[in-house]
Formats: sequence, structure tokens, C-alpha cells
Amino acid sequence: MTSKSSRDDGRLKIAIQKSGRLSEKSFALLERAGISLQKSKDQLLCRAHNFPLDIFLVRDDDIPAFLVNDVCQLGIMGQNSLLESQQLDPDTFGGLQQVMPLGFGRCRLSIAVPNDMEYTGPDSLNGRTIATSYRGLLAKYLAEYKVDANIVTMEGAVEVAPRTHLADAICDLVSTGNTLISNGLSEQETILKSQAVIIKNNVMRSDIDSLSEKILARIKAVLSAENSRYIMLNCPTEALDDIKAILPGSQSPTVLPLQGRDDMVAVHAVCDEAVFWTTMEDLKARGASSILVVPIEKMLD
Ligand code: ATP
Ligand code: ZN
Repeated sequence: MTSKSSRDDGRLKIAIQKSGRLSEKSFALLERAGISLQKSKDQLLCRAHNFPLDIFLVRDDDIPAFLVNDVCQLGIMGQNSLLESQQLDPDTFGGLQQVMPLGFGRCRLSIAVPNDMEYTGPDSLNGRTIATSYRGLLAKYLAEYKVDANIVTMEGAVEVAPRTHLADAICDLVSTGNTLISNGLSEQETILKSQAVIIKNNVMRSDIDSLSEKILARIKAVLSAENSRYIMLNCPTEALDDIKAILPGSQSPTVLPLQGRDDMVAVHAVCDEAVFWTTMEDLKARGASSILVVPIEKMLD
């Protein structure tokens, strides 16, 4: 454990996954928020040069414990793992808050059965054995549906359990579904939809909390810039209301005169949704021309 002096050094500590599905994207997100890090994957600790911040590189399952002990104040992990820890030990982990979904690491926790097993609904699991790494979330689901099944806890390679007759069914994380297909399993129930989130402890000191708020605001700005586009177009003045109505997610566009044209205006708007080809075609059909859609690098509200 970290000594008291390093805990009290006035630096914010963020726990992220050391290596695995979330680590690259967690690093990249912090870098896009302007944090310059010396990447060294062999270490536990990684210092930021330009912000009073240290990154702890740990196993994802350990992140909740780092937060409740205030070794770290923020963490990036899958909702699935957080909710599982909270389900298994609400007294210890119940106070951790999800503060921001991050839009990556999307997956679902699903129940899958062998293709040749008859399945008509959760009742079909009665008396069966289900292998999982998510005992807490599975038990909660089974209790909700009043299913009486046995749970076998496995750390990994859950998908082979039915073939080795260790279990009749599995409950595991799925993203594309390819692993299930190649193991002769079919997905039947989704227990939880998950993505990576930032989590926060509720015991941090106020000076650290203000650093945390600053980082969270930057990350929020990065995410909203990523999801937004700047759109520019020209249109007949009389078509302006029609055009405004179909600009995706835009609040109040800027309308500018076009030199030498009193029948035309230029419209500039930040759209907080994707701008699809079909939207551009609709804009064109309503009289818009010279339509430009550009990405936004940074945005601070
Ligand atoms: P660690 O060594 O840190 O314990 P791990 O093996 O538990 O790693 P990973 O397999 O790297 O964890 O998955 C980390 C997280 O990525 C999961 O908890 C989940 O939130 C997310 N994830 C997204 N898609 C998938 C998927 N198809 N399978 C497993 N996890 C996924
Ligand atoms: Zn893990």
C-alpha cells in the first residue's frame, strides 16, 4: 500500500486498467484531456508532467478497492465489474459513484446455452448449472425471475464450461458474439448492458476534489467535442426555418449575411449528433448549398 506521505502529496490519483481491453482507450482519453504521461506499463505508477496527477495501473477488479481506501480518487472501469463488486459487497463498495459514461468498452452480460438445449425462457434454467465470473449479478437476475439454478464461479474461459460438462449454460460478457458462435452457444438473455465509466470515491479531500472536477470537466469537453460536428452551409433566406428544423441536435445556429446576396444567408451550427449523408441530402433538398461538415477538436461550454 502507498505510504501516508504519498497519499497526502496533493496530487489526484486515477486508477486505470494496466493491460486489457480498457487500458489503451483509458490512456488515450487522459492524453486527449491534455494530460502528458510517461507511459511505462511495467510500473504501478505513472506521473503526469503537466498536471498534479498520478495514474495507477492495476487490474480492473482491484480498482474499486483502490478507491474506497482513498489510494485513488477516480477510476476508469467497466460498469459490469463495478456493479458486480457492489452486488457482492454493498457495505464496502456501495458508496462509489458512476460519474461519466465514456462510450467505449461496450459489452453486455448475457446468458447463453448450447445450441441444442431447448430454451423457452428463464424457466428453462431451473435445476441447471450456470458457469460465470459474475456470481453476484447472475444470482440477482435468477432471484428476480424466481429461477432455482446452481452457479459455478470461473475466473476465465467460461465459454468452454458446457463442452466440458462443467455447466449446462453460461453467463458471460459478449461484444460481437463471435466467441459464443464458435463455441456452439446461443445468446438467450441480456442481464446488463455495460460500457466503461469514470467512478469516483466519496471520501476525497476538497483540494483533491477540485483537481478531480477540473479533470472531469476536461474529459466531458473531450467527449462532447468528439460527438459533435461543426456544420456550415448557405441557403435561401426563406428556407431558413426548414433548414434549422433538420440540423441534427443543434441549439441556436449563427446566421450570417452573404455579401452581395440579400436572398441568401450562411448558417453555422454546432451539432451534437452525427451528421449523416442522408441529413446532408435533406438539407440540399431544402435549398442548402456548399454544405461543409467539420470535426471539432476542443469544446468548452
Ligand atoms: P484484468 O487483468 O485487468 O483483470 P480482465 O481479463 O478482467 O483484465 P478484460 O478482458 O481486459 O478484463 O476486460 C475489461 C473490461 O472490458 C470488461 O470488464 C468489460 O467492461 C469490457 N469488455 C468489453 N467487451 C468485452 C468482451 N467482449 N469481453 C470481456 N470484456 C469486455
Ligand atoms: Zn479483471
